[in-house]
Amino acid sequence: MKSNFSICVYCGSRPGTNPLFSQTAHEVGTWIASRGGQLVYGGGRNGLMGIVADAALSAGGRVVGIIPKALVEKEWAHTACTELHIVDNMHERKRMMAERADAFLALPGGIGTLEELFEVWTWLQLAYHDKPIGLLNTAGYYQGMLDFLQNSVDNGFMGDWQMGLLRTSESAAELLPELVESAGLTHESRLDQI
Ligand code: AMP
Repeated sequence: MKSNFSICVYCGSRPGTNPLFSQTAHEVGTWIASRGGQLVYGGGRNGLMGIVADAALSAGGRVVGIIPKALVEKEWAHTACTELHIVDNMHERKRMMAERADAFLALPGGIGTLEELFEVWTWLQLAYHDKPIGLLNTAGYYQGMLDFLQNSVDNGFMGDWQMGLLRTSESAAELLPELVESAGLTHESRLDQI
């Protein structure tokens, strides 16, 4: 297992209704920290975001939070982060999160999570980066979206290769090692061109 890896986690600023969501967020934060990895995330204390960060910190891991100044109060900036960056706007947040990560993982969440996931996915298909992206389909939360995306392939708007860029699993224990092992930690990033 590689160490010194950095995983950017996108997830809900709310906990959601199924207790499995919180349980998975805790599992993800603990797993990253206990393998010597670093968590990069949106810097908030609310919802699954707070749970993943607290779990990583409790397990002795490094946590990098990146939050726009307008959201510092709304999302309760997590002042216990190892590094907390308060940036000017959402674009700067997303760019910094992407730059600081070797791989991306989306957990259940709302439109903020979806926007972040789709952005790094489209950047990957355009080769602006070559970092692996995982989608944690906890309790089948994303199944309707995955079915729709397959509909997009069937209707000729996406290729199978684009779907293949997104690694999906219902199990964090299965997906996390796969992401770390496939992260080319010496990648050439073109994120500065975005
Ligand atoms: P949500 O999934 O809606 O609970 O949001 C999760 C995270 O995404 C939060 O940190 C939000 O600040 C963030 N977010 C909300 N809207 C956007 C957006 N347009 N682009 C990127 N991130 C967003």
